[in-house]
Amino acid sequence: MPVTRTLEADVLRRQDPELAGILLAELDRQSTTLQLIAAENFSSPAVLSALGSALANKYAEGYPGARHHGGCEIVDVAERIAVDRAKALFASEHANVQSHSGSSAVLAAYAALLRPGDTVLALGLPYGGHLTHGSPANFSGRWFDFVGYGVDAETGLIDYEQVRTLARTHRPKAIVCGSIAYPRHIDYALFREVADEVGAYLIADAAHPIGLVAGGAAPSPVPYADVVCATTHKVLRGPRGGMILCGAELAERVDRAVFPFTQGGAQMHTIAAKAVAFGEAATPAFTVYAHQVVANARVLAAGLAAEGLVVTTGGTDTHLITADPAPLGVDGRTARGRLAAAGMVLDCCALPHGDARGLRLGTAAVTTQGMGEEEMQRIAALFAEVLRGETESQKARDEVRELTGRFQPYTG
Ligand SMILES: *Cc1c(COP(=O)(O)O)cnc(C)c1O
Repeated sequence: MPVTRTLEADVLRRQDPELAGILLAELDRQSTTLQLIAAENFSSPAVLSALGSALANKYAEGYPGARHHGGCEIVDVAERIAVDRAKALFASEHANVQSHSGSSAVLAAYAALLRPGDTVLALGLPYGGHLTHGSPANFSGRWFDFVGYGVDAETGLIDYEQVRTLARTHRPKAIVCGSIAYPRHIDYALFREVADEVGAYLIADAAHPIGLVAGGAAPSPVPYADVVCATTHKVLRGPRGGMILCGAELAERVDRAVFPFTQGGAQMHTIAAKAVAFGEAATPAFTVYAHQVVANARVLAAGLAAEGLVVTTGGTDTHLITADPAPLGVDGRTARGRLAAAGMVLDCCALPHGDARGLRLGTAAVTTQGMGEEEMQRIAALFAEVLRGETESQKARDEVRELTGRFQPYTG
């Protein structure tokens, strides 16, 4: 494990034992508890090594071949490789790999296509829309006029009829599809049809499923959306960061919306790490991984349902599951606390049918650790034991420790 090795090389420990201790404690936390947060993963030692490289020192405003700083000839190559790999991986005409985060990518997509005050149709926040899809606390809600579509209260599925009706009524300049908590595939073709009918741009915020798309385990929004925004650190397993894919005709507008409109200097260490991650995602091993992530999520969802939790939409097509623990006698917040005490780390989320909070979890990280369907069944059972209060948290914690001990995220 490179992080440990760096510390063992003693540089940080000697200079700053306080911070070195924190790095090791976090590594220990990640290795001895179950990371079930749907947005998290373990990036590879190769990705971490690019992140910790001397490229972090380089200033590089602009794009390869057209920088505002000298000395960019080597980092230019890194960015060209990242762009070429992203284009090939996602069969996209253009890729911008400079967005610092998923939110920055969405901001740039809006900047490329919209003017302040424009109407945008997106999944409402109570149904799993991201902050950047119109939250009043976010630039999106402040600068644009968001109209929210929802999911069916019974099925939890996107109400595509409502999408069509709202689009006809409000004539949005853009329609956003994508969510922080939707467990099913999105019908991109249908969104495209609605967008065409009302003359709107289609923006796919594929922050969550883009890694599954890379591994061929989820449909790609690239053929349908005008602009695809994504993160590189969720199922895709790269460094924390964002990315934008689009057709050649929007390439220049998107690039200018990233730099200089919404960002300054590119983070070349992160871009190099993105290139490494795209390289990994293009391998057959990643295809196997992506399909295993989904297989694991299906087994985990079925296990939770068998234990009595209400799994939204009745299951999942992806890495992501949302569920209501109420039938076990606990609300989402209490459940999250109890599970955390037992070493199972996950989030709360909104539920389609009302105000109660549910649980959101995902299988990207545990699958990277090498866990399979048998372990998912064990996790589902342990979950229910903890929520029903049948197992003390210390005993559950020991079981989690035993499990994670057999599936270490980093070896050596
Ligand atoms: C994670 C996510 C984002 C934001 O990513 P950050 O890197 O945290 O800014 C945006 N949109 C959706 C749908 C997401 O799931």
